[in-house]
Amino acid sequence: MALFALPRVHLAHLPTPVEPLPRLSAALGGGLELWVKRDDQTGLALGGNKTRKLEYLLAEAQAHGARMLITTGAAQSNHCRQTAAAAARLGLGCLLVLVGPPNASEPDGNRLLMHLMGAEIRWTTRERRDQDLRAAFEQAWESGRRPYLIPYGGSSPVGAAAYAYALEELLVTQGFRPDVIVLATSSGGTQAGLVAGARLLGYKGRIVGISVDEPASVLRPRMASLAEEVLERLRAPGKVSPEAVEVVDDLARPGYAVMTEREEEAILLAARTEGLLVDPVYTGRGLAGLLMLARSGAFPPGSRVLFWHTGGTPALWAEPYRSRLGRHGASS
Ligand SMILES: *Cc1c(COP(=O)(O)O)cnc(C)c1O
Repeated sequence: MALFALPRVHLAHLPTPVEPLPRLSAALGGGLELWVKRDDQTGLALGGNKTRKLEYLLAEAQAHGARMLITTGAAQSNHCRQTAAAAARLGLGCLLVLVGPPNASEPDGNRLLMHLMGAEIRWTTRERRDQDLRAAFEQAWESGRRPYLIPYGGSSPVGAAAYAYALEELLVTQGFRPDVIVLATSSGGTQAGLVAGARLLGYKGRIVGISVDEPASVLRPRMASLAEEVLERLRAPGKVSPEAVEVVDDLARPGYAVMTEREEEAILLAARTEGLLVDPVYTGRGLAGLLMLARSGAFPPGSRVLFWHTGGTPALWAEPYRSRLGRHGASS
């Protein structure tokens, strides 16, 4: 059964590859069959999971006659970098309301790329974020700039729906059926979309979100209701209970964007066994979560485990990560 088709603009290189990870599997003892879905290769200004969401968000923006995009994120936001790229591609303005100290450092990593793509940047704090975002929208609206507001992480129901289609791409277009999907979860749109897609496509495998930020008790109900909203958009309404959304939050405790030894280990292991790059904030934590679960026997022997790579690699070149990671010489 094909999913109901929402309006879309083409921005991503799809389907993204699905690749085996034999040397990483062997490094874990060889009991599992590890694979990776390369959404770090979606192609828009270094790619990532937000590119899929933006295909649907920008179709909606165009339908509203938008002339500029406004969104928010951290100083090293992959979402803001991909939004700036999408705006440039479609000839729209772009205003980014970034959380962080404005003069922390010279622009590096994702923030450098936001600059290159011509985004206008305003600074805010975590506490004032929603208020400043709304104010920026109203100001732009009143000055006739026809803004379209993209929520944090692009995780509106329309944005999240992109990951129901992404699951269809994996299961139907690529005919690949993992027993378990593991991914880094933050605003929750990616996992909520996958959960909605699983419902519609009859996928019975586990979908495990590794929280990079908030506790499972917050994420599970939020993603369940977002998945319900996705189902509604896809003309197949249904209930999703918070218990149906699997989240592991053990790695989130040190705090958002804090790279610990666990993320460092995951970054080095993927790089040195497979030449695969994961990032310090999201996919390094997500892969560290996968390693933790694999080592604790959470997956039955022989399981086919897919790590859904959601991107984020430009942060490898941002401080403080760059200096910390640079200490690992070839002989370390
Ligand atoms: C945004 C992001 C995520 C999390 O996706 P959500 O849909 O916000 O949960 C994971 N990985 C990377 C690299 C991201 O940029």
